[in-house]
Amino acid sequence: MYGFHGRLLQIDLSTGKRSWRELGEERLRAFLGGIGLGTSLLYDYAPPGVEPLSAANPLIFASAPLVGTGLTTTAKFAVVTKSPLTGFIADSLSSSHFALELKRLGLDALVITGQAASTVYIHINDQNVEIRNAEHLRGKSPGETESMIRSELNSQSVRVAAIGRAGENRVRFATISNEGRHAGRGGVGAVMGSKNLKAIALRGDQDTRAADPKGVEAIADSLRRRSLGSLTDKYRKIGTVANLAVFNRLGTLPTRNFQQSTFDHAEALSGETLTENNFSRRHGCASCTIQCERLFKALDGAEQRLEYESLFALGPLCGIEDPEVVLQAAQLCDLYGLDTISTGGTLSWAMECSEKGLLPEARDLRFGAPNALLAAIPLIAERQGLGALLAEGSRRAALELGNDSSYWAMHVKGLELPGYEPRSLKTMALGLAVSPRGACHNRSGAYEADFSGEVDRLRSDPGRGALVAASEDYAAVLDSLIVCKFLRKCFSNFYGEGAELLSKVTGWDCSSDELKRIGERIHNLKKLFNTREGWRAGDDWLPQRLLSEALPTGVAQGVGLSPDELQGMIQGYYRARGWDEKGLIPESKLRELGIFM
Ligand code: SF4
Repeated sequence: MYGFHGRLLQIDLSTGKRSWRELGEERLRAFLGGIGLGTSLLYDYAPPGVEPLSAANPLIFASAPLVGTGLTTTAKFAVVTKSPLTGFIADSLSSSHFALELKRLGLDALVITGQAASTVYIHINDQNVEIRNAEHLRGKSPGETESMIRSELNSQSVRVAAIGRAGENRVRFATISNEGRHAGRGGVGAVMGSKNLKAIALRGDQDTRAADPKGVEAIADSLRRRSLGSLTDKYRKIGTVANLAVFNRLGTLPTRNFQQSTFDHAEALSGETLTENNFSRRHGCASCTIQCERLFKALDGAEQRLEYESLFALGPLCGIEDPEVVLQAAQLCDLYGLDTISTGGTLSWAMECSEKGLLPEARDLRFGAPNALLAAIPLIAERQGLGALLAEGSRRAALELGNDSSYWAMHVKGLELPGYEPRSLKTMALGLAVSPRGACHNRSGAYEADFSGEVDRLRSDPGRGALVAASEDYAAVLDSLIVCKFLRKCFSNFYGEGAELLSKVTGWDCSSDELKRIGERIHNLKKLFNTREGWRAGDDWLPQRLLSEALPTGVAQGVGLSPDELQGMIQGYYRARGWDEKGLIPESKLRELGIFM
């Protein structure tokens, strides 16, 4: 088989049993790899209604056809499981050498089930699988774990993905980290922790074969050249932190738990200011020519990676104006293995509760209070004091606290909102409301229509449904081939070029229509999984604050979003998807997509 290895490895940590299973070409062609393959395996391996933190919930690491081909930005892998935060699908991507090593094992996916009796790590050296004691690694950060395993195995070429203290303590928004990058959203690290699995260490020797290596090389050359042009300027010059000043100007920067969409201190926190005062170096994933990552120097001299989402969530969302504090907070999240968006989102909810007198035990936790923010992060990771409540995420914490605090718990399906203000980005508002993994900015690029001026971003209309559906399908293909989203603008005709690329890698005769259809199929299967796990129409919705309060500041001052507007857009989306008005997929649609062929 070209582009794939045609098999997966399942490891049951309860019994220690390893099973290699064949992955048929039919499944791979229907779902590709990455998020698509992971979703397809989740549907089959997760027992219906499985408890996310139970032994039976599978934790799936999926590779993809373009990984290992040398194409720029393709060193990525997916982690797919049932989310302990949402109860629906969690599909996260991470990158770099771990992705390349996973593919070199001669596998397309690694499925981990069961629960070890004590803390362990998995070491796979080509065909040799060991489950090793990891009690001595408990309490270590992902970075420390990586170094300790490398020296223990006496190998600098072994690649490690690990959880931190938050994952060990099953914090519902814990990450899995490798080489400073994270499978961040949805609590995949808590699922790993629930299996008593501290880390996975990989080293493989098997190359991926392409059907037409010269053809792949020609496209790779062209994409490499395009990736260094003006279409990726933003990512190469300042990185995603450049968004902060732009979003503030456009009135789309969520501030103080979405009470405002502009931040008075945006200039002090902007990417430009950070670059001037704290820039250390540019960095990036393996096999990437864009190198969008920025490392900044924190006060203690240590380098800290920072991108827009962490900057927004630990900065304006919590009212924090000092970049040094944001860098320290991001450092703590990385050290403990916490998703920065959900950490900032849950803390900003708690800050508002505290200011309203609902958390007397945490009087210092207020918007803009740096010490209280920095003190709260370790408490969350350790589940100590107030941290035990916050480790559950804003939705569960608000339900437990009561007193109408759900009104300002800013999540969709339990996943905290990213840094895009829905009231001044109406297409994005719909994208966030209907996304299968909850409030997500990665599994669609709905905001692109708003920012491009293609639509009036301050007004809603039912036609946005088709835009959101198309954007979700497009993202599903990118995330399953896998190609980094920051390369997307370098394709002049993504489906055409993507199909050509896939054909040259796999030897299939794949058309742009087939690729489009694959994206639609993957998205529908995610929805089908969620429906099986209890999704109801009310789950596609936005937090009450967004539907009750107009924006008080900035260029979008006075703009709101009514429940009727949102409902109109959601119905337009269901129609565009070919689903019924309750948001369910008709059997005819499943047949048309070849699901359960
Ligand atoms: S553009 Fe950035 S995120 Fe994408 S592959 Fe390159 S370094 Fe990684």
